[in-house]
Parts: sequence; C-alpha cells; structure tokens
Amino acid sequence: MATYVKDFSEGDRDQKDLLGGKGANLAEMTRLGLPVPPGFTITTEACRAFMRTGEVPAELRVEVTMALRRLEDALGRQLGDFHEPLLVSVRSGAKFSMPGMMETVLNVGLNDASVQGLAQFSGDERFAWDSYRRLIQMFGRTVLGLEGELFADALDKAKAGRGVTSDVELTADDLRVLVDTFKEIVRTETGKEFPQHPREQLDLAIVAVLQSWGTERARLYRRKERIPDDLGTAVNVCSMVFGNLGPTSGTGVAFTRNPSTGETGDYGDYLVNAQGEDVVAGIRNTLSLADLEEVDPVAYGELRQAMRRLETHYRDLCDIEFTIERGKLWMLQTRVGKRTAPAAFRIACQLVDEHLITMDEALSRVNGAQLSQLLFPQFDADGERTLLTKAMAASPGAAVGMAVFDSVTAQEWAEEGKDVILVRRETNPDDLGGMIAAVGILTARGGKTSHAAVVARGMGRTAVVGAEALDIDMVTRSFTVTGHKVHEGDVIAIDGSTGDVFLGSVPVMPSPVSTYLEEGLDVALASTDDEETRDLVMAVDRILRHADATRRLHVHANADTAEDAARARRLGAEGIGLCRTEHMFLGERRVLVERVVLATQDATRQEALDALLPLQREDFVDLLREMDGLPTTIRLLDPPLHEFLPDFTELSVKVALAEASGNVDEADVQLLAAVTRMHEANPMLGLRGVRLGLVVPGLFALQIRAICEAVAIRRVAGGDPHAEIMVPLVGSVQELRIIREEALGIMAEVGAEHGITLDLPVGVMIELPRAALTADRIAEEAQFFSFGTNDLTQTTWGFSRDDVEGAFFAQYTANGVLSVSPFETIDAKGVGRLVRIAVEEGRATRPDLTIGVCGEHGGDPESIRFFDSVGLDYVSCSPFRVPVARLEAGRASV
Ligand code: PEP
Ligand code: MG
Repeated sequence: MATYVKDFSEGDRDQKDLLGGKGANLAEMTRLGLPVPPGFTITTEACRAFMRTGEVPAELRVEVTMALRRLEDALGRQLGDFHEPLLVSVRSGAKFSMPGMMETVLNVGLNDASVQGLAQFSGDERFAWDSYRRLIQMFGRTVLGLEGELFADALDKAKAGRGVTSDVELTADDLRVLVDTFKEIVRTETGKEFPQHPREQLDLAIVAVLQSWGTERARLYRRKERIPDDLGTAVNVCSMVFGNLGPTSGTGVAFTRNPSTGETGDYGDYLVNAQGEDVVAGIRNTLSLADLEEVDPVAYGELRQAMRRLETHYRDLCDIEFTIERGKLWMLQTRVGKRTAPAAFRIACQLVDEHLITMDEALSRVNGAQLSQLLFPQFDADGERTLLTKAMAASPGAAVGMAVFDSVTAQEWAEEGKDVILVRRETNPDDLGGMIAAVGILTARGGKTSHAAVVARGMGRTAVVGAEALDIDMVTRSFTVTGHKVHEGDVIAIDGSTGDVFLGSVPVMPSPVSTYLEEGLDVALASTDDEETRDLVMAVDRILRHADATRRLHVHANADTAEDAARARRLGAEGIGLCRTEHMFLGERRVLVERVVLATQDATRQEALDALLPLQREDFVDLLREMDGLPTTIRLLDPPLHEFLPDFTELSVKVALAEASGNVDEADVQLLAAVTRMHEANPMLGLRGVRLGLVVPGLFALQIRAICEAVAIRRVAGGDPHAEIMVPLVGSVQELRIIREEALGIMAEVGAEHGITLDLPVGVMIELPRAALTADRIAEEAQFFSFGTNDLTQTTWGFSRDDVEGAFFAQYTANGVLSVSPFETIDAKGVGRLVRIAVEEGRATRPDLTIGVCGEHGGDPESIRFFDSVGLDYVSCSPFRVPVARLEAGRASV
C-alpha cells in the first residue's frame, strides 16, 4: 500500500527517498528528542501519484485528515480555530536540495476569524494582522499564481501613505487595512474571495507545492544538477512557531562550523523579532550567535547543545534553521551543510581528529572538483569587474593580459615581458607558439574538446572557448561584445573555471595548494604565515596521501614534452599514458611532415624523414630522461590531415589570385595539386593514425627508430627507460600486425647496432567501435590497450568532436537529450559498454594485458569511477589534472 503521509515522529534520516531531505531530517531531529514543532510529511509517493494523474489521490485527503487530527490532538488546538488557532507551514522538500526552486506557504489557517484568536492568544494584535497579510501575500503569489508585484506595490503604498520606510513601522490598524487591500487584489484578479476555510487553504497550498515540482525553473535546475525528474517532492506540514512575537523572539540560521573557511566553532546569524524569510532576504542587519548569547543565554545554551548533538550524530557539518518563540527554542530544519572547497578539506580532517570519522570517510567527503578549485589561481572575489560575456570554461585558472589576435604577436609581446591573452576565432596547430606564450586563450568557436581546449588543458593554460558573442575583426584587430569594443593591447581577464570574460584587470590570488603540489609540503608551509592556509595545505596533503595509499588505479599523464613530463611527475604521475607525437611536429617542423606526406618521390620523402629523425630522437631522449624508471607510452603520429597540410581554401585563393595577376609561383601550384589530391571531406575519419602509417612509407618506421635509439642512448647513459609504442586508430588486427612486425624488425636492428636487446611493448589505442568489438583478436597482437575515449565517443555517437558543442549540444542539454556532454563524462551505457566488452575480451585473450585510458575522460571524476569499476589499470590525464585523478581514484576505492 502506498504511504502518503508520515508524522515527524515516524521517520528517520535514511528515508530521504520517501520523505525528502527536509522531512527525513525533521523526523531524525524529532527522534533525537530535539525541540521540533510537531507536524507531518506528505511523501514523494504522493507527489509521484499526483504527477501521473494530475490529481490529488483520494487516499491522500483521508490521510491528511487523520494526520491533522493527530496534530490537533497533540497540541490541543484546532487548525484556524477562533481561539488559540493552530497554524501550519507548508513547505516543499525534495530528496536533493533545490534551493528556492519550489514553493512554501506560511501561516496557513489564518482567516478573518482566527486572526482575532491569534491576536488574543499572542497578546499582540499587530503581529496577528502582519501574519495574516503575509499569508494572503504568499498564498496569492504561490497558490493563486498572482504577480508578487501587486502585493509589493500595495505594501509600498501603505508605507508611503504613512510616511514610513520599513514594514515594522506599520501599525496593527495599517495592517488591517492592508489585509483588506490584499483581499481586494485577490478578488479582482481571480474573481474569487480569498479562501477562508482553513482546510481549503491547506489543501490548495499542498497542491501548489506538489505542482511546483513540475515548473519550468525546477526542471531546468534539475537538469543542471542532474537530479532525475521522476523523484517528486515531499511536502512538510509543520505547526507554526513564531519568531516575530517581540524582542524575546527571533529566527536564525546556524552552522556547526564555518562553512566558508572550515574554522571550528559555531557560526550563524540571528534576527530578533523576525520570521524565516527575513534572515535570508537580508532585510535587516543580523546578530551573530555570540550576540545571541548576550541577548538570551538560556536559548543560546540550548541551541549550542542541539548543534553539538546534531554534529556528533550526523558526523559532519550541519546547517540549521531555528526560531526562538518567547524564549523557547524550536528547530525548524537541519541538513548536512554545503561548504566551500577549503572548508571541505579542513573539516574532513578535523572530524578525523575528533574521532568522528575515519580517513576513508574523510576521503569520501571531498572531491576532485573541489581540489581543482584549490589548484588554480583565482580571481579575488572582492575585486571589481565588468563582465563582457560568458562562454565555455575549457581550462581552469584566472588570467589577466592584453588581448592579442595572432600567434606571432602573442609571442613577440610575451618576449617583451607582457602578459597576453590570445584571442582567436578558433585555434589551429600553427597557434601553438602563441598559446604557449599567452597566459590565457579565448576563442569564439569550438567546444571543450576543441584543439584550443585540449592543448590549453594539457599546458595548464587558462582557456575560455566558444564565446560566440565575440565579434572578432582581424582588420581593425579588435573584437566587439555587448556594446564594448576591445582593441589589441587592451587588458581583459578570463576565468577558465566559470567561463567569464571581463573587461580590464581583475586582481588574482595565487594558490598555496598548487605550491604544495608542485614544490612539496615544506615549501608551501614556509611560503605563508596564515594559519588557515597552512591548515588547508596540511589537510590536502593528508587526504591526498591517503588517496594514494588507497587507490587501485594508477595515474599517468598525457604529456608531449620533457617539461610537461617533469611537471606531471612532480604532481604525482606514475608514468606517461600518452605522448602525442604530432604535437612535436608543430611549428617549423610541420613543413617536414608536410613534405613527408605530400612527397611523390621516394628521395624527397626520405630526405624529409632523415631530417626528422634526429629531432624526434632528441625529443624522446629528453622525455625518457624525465620519466626514468616509469612507463612512457609514445603514440605514433595521428594527425587528422587537415591539421598538417596548408589550408585548401586559402591555398586555392592564393593560386587563383596569382594566376589572375600572372605571377604564378610553381611551388604553390604543385603544393595545391598535392593538397587537392589529399583533400578530405571528413579528415577526422580520413587518412590518420595507423592508416597514415600504412600509406606513407617510412613515417612510422622513422618514429619507431627514433624511440628505439632514444632508449638505447638512455640505457648506455645508465638510465632506466620504459618506452612503449602505441598505435592509434586501429580498427583491424591486420593493421596492428603489420606495424608490429615492422617495429620488431626495427628493435632488432637498433638493438644490434647498440649491442643491447630491445623489447619494447607494442600496444594499441582503442578508439573505434570495431576495435572494441574485436578486442579478442586485437589482443593477440597488442601488449596493452589504451582507450582513446575522445575518438571512441566521436565514432560511437557519430558526433564530430570539433563541431558538436557549438552546433547543437546546447539544444540537446536544454531539451534533455543529454544531461552532460559525452565528451566530458564517459557515456557509461553506450561508449562504456564498448569499453567493458574490450576489457573482458582483451583479457580473455591475454590475461596480463595492461589497460588504461588516455582520452579527456581520464581526468573526469565521474568517468574515473567508471574506469575503476571496469577494472582498468590506469587513467591518464593532463599533468594539471593528475592530483585530481589521484584523489578521485582514491575515492573510487573507498
Ligand atoms: C582519444 O581519441 O581519446 C585520444 C586520446 O587521442 P586524440 O585526442 O589525440 O585523438
Ligand atoms: Mg584519438
């Protein structure tokens, strides 16, 4: 049988599904013997029944009648009675808190008769009429759907008529008149009288709360917070207590520790002679809890006791709403409180020291998103700012610099010691120099996995991408946005954690936690005298060390240069999971690759290959030196061709113009012919990865040789290199077999040349559904798998990773097709299924197969959980995400 109503005395905190968060905690406090005004909860089951049928179930009416009777009997008062009326509040309360999204009605039960009773019982006529006008106002707005302005205007008029500015200055008579005005508003606007019958008020208020679950704003909020739409809300009907009964009454909110810094000790605000909403609305200045101790030591003492009780019971920071009615404390709500990132770490460690929780629990009380917030320099929250636009937060951090519009200028200005932000419509590989030189990157197009975003994250460069409001004019070298024009050289600021773009400078604060991670605990502690900061750094250290001791997953980094590798290692990476060699071919080396790819004659190609060999070898020697003793997975070249060849359209225009003016450059014509030959309509699915290796003779051989020679050089130098060769975009075991045989031949050759044995593991990236589905075959040739989940997502969904976010993801998230981009968090049902299959079948063929992931998902908290659950050996992510991944991998195993 359905459960539609439960008294507060019946439930407990574990029943959040049924009673909602607020209801379950009210029940728990009641169970603990804390002073909770009696009441009952209409369950989420009732809401779900209401959503199904659009009607209040008949059983609910009966159950409410019975619960109301029990409440009236317990208190010896009747709802809306003429003498000593019982009044109730009707509040929403879903399983997950949805602050401000749903409705609340207070003072239900007041009418023309009971207002007199309330006046008599309270001995305060003004209070009674004020409560009545509040009811009509709230009821009018939330239950009858009238514009709040109608009531607010009437209230303003009443104050103006009396020549006063504050509500509290209105007298009982003023309020009596105002009640009439409010009732008149209801009559005119709805054609009906304000309902006088208390039970009718209650029923209508309950329906309004149930309906508020389905409002547009509630839906939007749930989508954003990923709360399922079918949970429904509970409705709490609670006997009213009054904080607005004079100077010995009041209402407040309190926290058992400071939720913003994590400082121990009570923390909160109290407002004398006020009702709930007044505190949050910030209408009047509040008192601190210390002030409350002065004003009412007895109630304060009781409150403190209740807070201690709650904290030891919940074993966590609790936030509390309370009311004091004529010196008597009432607890109206509690829940485990939200907190900032620094507070989360500090509180978790404090609770361990107080023997309330274990280190495992402390680890589960913090998360990677919080740690990332602590890592990046942040804009000073108090600093002044002018927001220009908001776009995608692609790579966190706070960057302030002069806007520049091309890579070369960025590098020149940076060399002069200027901080610059590279502003581009979109970036291409040629921009790399500018991206390195810049403190931040801002693009008008592209999504979170666009080139700019991936590269920026890899380098730890702050980036905001897809700022479509930006109108960039390369002729005047400026951009316009929301009425502002920003010229080259003007200072802008971008927040890569929020996507905000500001005009001018915003003050930036360095992060002590990143000093700790980069340079160790001692340096970080020595860098500050601030006790709070030191405590925070120690808390992060303690929890991260526990995560390292606990986690099953190893954490590797995606790093393409020795410098990135060194940083990754400092940040705790236990290997390199992906070295994207094409990033080594950017800049001036690109021409050589271009020559290799476009060559029609063996000799020209060989020349270019010969020129590349020493450069590549040196890259790898440096990389392997940094990663001495640790696995270093080097991926053979995988450029979508368009990233490496001259732009087809630009080149065509150039040649056409040259032909028109009779100044034809033969080299350009030949280049155009070659580019035309190689031009692809869909380069992401074209000649890239292993396909390029198989089609362009000597290209992969060159890279494999460079890797082998680098290993040999490091060995001779007494090092302990662990290079692994990874083949990208394989779809068939045959492709891998050919490359592997070639690799074995080169290992033997180079080994012989240096008088050593080379036995480098050769593995494969699983980036195509076919590779996942034939993993058993592929494992016959592959010594390891690494999931390239960027491409695997692209090819499984058929979404172009470069285009989707700008094109239609916004629409897809708005209409609920997607709750989050599958390029950000692994699509466990679809792409994840392929991952599972490949893991299972790969290991069936080769039980000791090492398996990792090196797509962007390797640094995403939710995805890390998934990878842990399917039994991967490691995740690999950009160096800056390494600490986050260590923490999340720890969390995944507790
Ligand atoms: C991937 O596809 O997930 C991957 C790591 O390779 P890239 O992003 O370089 O295509
Ligand atoms: Mg890939």
